[in-house]
Amino acid sequence: MKNIVIYGAPAAGKGSICEKLVEKYKYNHISTGNLFRNLDDSTEFNRKIHETIAKGNLVDDETTSKLVQNHLETLDNNPIVLDGFPRNLNQAKILDTFFDNYIVINIEVSEMVALERALGRVTCSKCGKIYNKYSESMKPLKEGICDVCGGDLVGRSDDNEESFKTRYNIYMNNVESLLNYYSEKNLLFIINSDQKSPNEIFEEIEKVIK
Ligand code: ADP
Ligand code: ZN
Repeated sequence: MKNIVIYGAPAAGKGSICEKLVEKYKYNHISTGNLFRNLDDSTEFNRKIHETIAKGNLVDDETTSKLVQNHLETLDNNPIVLDGFPRNLNQAKILDTFFDNYIVINIEVSEMVALERALGRVTCSKCGKIYNKYSESMKPLKEGICDVCGGDLVGRSDDNEESFKTRYNIYMNNVESLLNYYSEKNLLFIINSDQKSPNEIFEEIEKVIK
């Protein structure tokens, strides 16, 4: 299995794909968003990060890349999927100083579909499983309750329309330079996700990682 950098607009569905990679192929999932969200509120530094995320802005490149680098050092030999990093060209260049041997998968999605996915997204507060209120195939069996562990389902601080717009604009400002960088290196695979179920998307992913 190949190491993966998974890229795409906010709420494109990267997290759900990563869940499946972990379950089926034992990937090590590094999500910078999750790592940031899981920081406690004990220091001013961490509180600032939580504020930045809630507004939909990017955390600075140095903090983010250090976090990824430190995390990479703790992993076993299973393949890795990097989710949420890099998000701009500078981060991509930094990544190349400490991680190699990967492919990049770009999950394409239209802005409307991404917004709908963001506004419908809820996550289990106990086990982290992702659900979507507006999707037949991703709805929990019982509203507000995790199918797997019974935990409460909660929305994210940044999954409101205003933060989504900020995140989407940041994405639009960076997507071209980032994808050019990777296509010139011949590392880029593109998968469109608009009209597809999570399972159909995953089948396409499986074709490129083997
Ligand atoms: P999504 O699933 O919508 O793409 P993530 O969970 O990946 O969102 O990220 C949530 C937030 O965490 C981002 O909006 C940003 O504030 C912060 N973050 C995540 N990755 C990075 C990164 N590579 N650089 C800077 N900030 C980041
Ligand atoms: Zn759960």
